[in-house]
Amino acid sequence: MNLLALPAFTDNYIWMVHDGRSAFVVDPGAAAPVIEALSSRNLTLAGILVTHHHADHVGGLAGLRSILNGPVFGPAHEDIPPPYLPLVAGDHAELLGLRFDVLEVPGHTAGHIAYRARDFDGHPLLFCGDTLFSAGCGRLFEGTPAQMHASLSALAALPGDTRVCCAHEYTLSNLRFAHAVEPRNDNVTAYARWCEQQRARGEPTLPSSIAQERRVNPFLRCDEPEVVHAARHHGAASDAPVDVFAALREWKNEF
Ligand SMILES: [Zn+2]
Ligand SMILES: [Zn+2]
Repeated sequence: MNLLALPAFTDNYIWMVHDGRSAFVVDPGAAAPVIEALSSRNLTLAGILVTHHHADHVGGLAGLRSILNGPVFGPAHEDIPPPYLPLVAGDHAELLGLRFDVLEVPGHTAGHIAYRARDFDGHPLLFCGDTLFSAGCGRLFEGTPAQMHASLSALAALPGDTRVCCAHEYTLSNLRFAHAVEPRNDNVTAYARWCEQQRARGEPTLPSSIAQERRVNPFLRCDEPEVVHAARHHGAASDAPVDVFAALREWKNEF
């Protein structure tokens, strides 16, 4: 099985999984990069996974329907262009023999879902849309800090070797914020150096891993003393992780 990040727009990735003959994609905000990747590799399109309703994640659906030979899966509680198979927490989506568990991760949008496969070439695999980014997280457009904190905590509890496929290349700017929150976190510094090299080569910084995110992502580190301390200086109402999270998210919005 192959995992590809197809660049779209300025900083989106449309993730593609293929076995050399068939492929599925995640959050096709545009059709053209998918059609190009399929035709250059002689692949057929066997399915689509959608995490949430934003246009940069569903905008390519209409242009892919005519070549799609399989289902579109998406969140039951959001307006996704029909037809699609609506999913809620505990449901499963199967594509190319991979079985994905559906996790509900509200916060960025009210009905956002994530897809987790337990075994993709020996490791778990996660498609988390705009909920978890490497070293950051999505903005709270429709949810509360408490919802997003719970969603991120559930993702942080997945096995450390879970490969994390985020929908945007935001890692370097997120790491600048992470450094402001935790200037003494050497993992942030080392990771930033590696990410700069990746970007200089034109390569993605993704996928990340849950273990890496636990080391560098301030939004998953709301009980670390240095993170709590920084958040208290930026308006956190208490040391409680959800208050720390809320203050970090506000701070990041203006960073
Ligand atoms: Zn979004
Ligand atoms: Zn997005």
